[in-house]
Amino acid sequence: MKRTSILLLASLLVFSCSKNPEIDTEIKSENSEFVTLKSGIIVEKRGDEYILGGDMILSPMQLKALDEKGNLSGEDGKTKDSPDTTIHPVFNIPVAAVEKKEGTLPRNLGMNADPYRLWAMVRFTYGPSILNHPNKDYFINGIKLALNHIQDNTNVRFYNATGQPTVDPTWGFAYPYIEINYVGNLSASSSSHIGRRPEGGKQELKLADFAFPNPPFDNDYSTIVHELCHAIGMMHEQNRPDRDQYVSIKTNNLTTKGLAQFTKVTTNYSYFGAYDFSSIMGYDSYTSSTDHVNNTSLPMYTKLNGDPIVSGTLLSGLDRIWLNNYHLPYIARSDVYRELADVVYDGNNNILTPSQRLQLQAQLNNGNSTPPAGGRIPNDF
Ligand SMILES: [Zn+2]
Repeated sequence: MKRTSILLLASLLVFSCSKNPEIDTEIKSENSEFVTLKSGIIVEKRGDEYILGGDMILSPMQLKALDEKGNLSGEDGKTKDSPDTTIHPVFNIPVAAVEKKEGTLPRNLGMNADPYRLWAMVRFTYGPSILNHPNKDYFINGIKLALNHIQDNTNVRFYNATGQPTVDPTWGFAYPYIEINYVGNLSASSSSHIGRRPEGGKQELKLADFAFPNPPFDNDYSTIVHELCHAIGMMHEQNRPDRDQYVSIKTNNLTTKGLAQFTKVTTNYSYFGAYDFSSIMGYDSYTSSTDHVNNTSLPMYTKLNGDPIVSGTLLSGLDRIWLNNYHLPYIARSDVYRELADVVYDGNNNILTPSQRLQLQAQLNNGNSTPPAGGRIPNDF
């Protein structure tokens, strides 16, 4: 059982998708075509990949589910009004009960909180395109800023598995993990899967030049945070089913590619609360991309009163709430003990008191609140 605990957990809980509007804006699109699925949803075929909403890579199983059922999980249309009977991957009790207990209602749009799509720790590697690049250190510095921003503000934890086995040595299954790659200027945009790929194994997160602004990064690593948030389950705010109560879509100015960015997610999502204009998962009103709009001096969409939308460059409070509801901050260990970091957020972004933290840690470990000595393993980015 050595080594399998957190890794098994990681395999049980994973996600993915892709990035900001700005990404596409400055880069000319490569060859792509649009495909209308049986469900009526339009996706972009870019090379061998099928892309949802501009930057979310669909796995074969997700594409099939979207084609046949109109949602990513392929389950019949759960909506926010249906009772959610999902078992929470961490607490092992129904998700709806967790939410009720924590009193959480507002959170941003994400995929249906399916334990098979969430991660316990988000296993990732730096891909060969980064490790073999002359600018390797610069790329890794930017990615670290983004990883630390998410870790410092949420319960999400990443595990750097670069150079480690991709198959479990004891049990022989392929670890689910995100390989982060640099795709330069040729790719149309940065992109990522949505949550953990249902097929498991490797899934890519691609970062284009746009994700790496000239130094210093300061707060300008938003594209990387955005793509990572896709990979841990979040989707675009403008795709909320209730968005027409908050924003006005300028269909006359949108090209086919632009329109495909504004498809509503109508089933099997998780969100509550009002539209979050400051979410890092939203798009700006304006784009310089002639692939998306007929006239770049006019917006793609605006607030209902006509005001422009400028999306966040860091996680908003509601972005954090979505992430904190579905994750706990585990420390990487070689044994099966589930050790929590010092700072644990509840579903409302409040920090648990030390005694609450210990109580939760005991609950996760058959009543034992004290981790065995020496079980931690190194985890540096
Ligand atoms: Zn995106």
